[in-house]
Amino acid sequence: MLNIILFGPPGSGKGTQAANLVEKYNLQHVSTGDLLREEKAKETPLGLQAQKFMDQGKLVPDEVVIGMISSKLDQMADKVKGFIFDGFPRTVAQAEALDKLMDLKNIQIASVLALDVSEEELVKRILKRGETSNRADDRDEDTIRQRVTEYENKTAPVATYYGEQNKLTRIAGEGTPEAIFDLLSEQMDGLVGA
Ligand code: ADP
Repeated sequence: MLNIILFGPPGSGKGTQAANLVEKYNLQHVSTGDLLREEKAKETPLGLQAQKFMDQGKLVPDEVVIGMISSKLDQMADKVKGFIFDGFPRTVAQAEALDKLMDLKNIQIASVLALDVSEEELVKRILKRGETSNRADDRDEDTIRQRVTEYENKTAPVATYYGEQNKLTRIAGEGTPEAIFDLLSEQMDGLVGA
């Protein structure tokens, strides 16, 4: 299996690039943001619990997202060529839990591709997405800045965690989507060939 984490702050282009990568490399996309929004739309207890955190730009509690990922791995690990995780892990506790879940299945993360984008560019992109995305958390600048703050405090340390495992590659995340996809593809081709 080839398992990749697409890493970066909110608005860095993970969702867009993950969609391109799953198509080119035939991998399974796992976005915790999408999974949580599905639960919210279905008004499940999990979705309702998550909603108040998401609307405030805060991270949903670790046990909720770890549970969701655990069942995804159980459902799909035997059926797919690999996973692209997008928006997960977002805390060091989530990264440790993912390592344990993968160990149980004798699989591992091959690489973490991290998109670097400045805060001003992030806020600009998310506000623009908010014009069409139907996401309340994309429309309010305070909520967006809260998400960036959560990223800096809780998620950025995840990069260090994978850096220590020599699995982190930083990619310049500003430029045209096509140029960024080329940079990501270069890394992916190296991994596929490895
Ligand atoms: P973005 O990358 O633009 O923030 P996402 O769809 O990845 O969009 O996430 C939207 C929201 O869903 C986050 O602000 C957070 O509340 C919640 N969320 C998504 N993934 C996680 C996660 N792994 N851990 C905790 N909360 C999460």
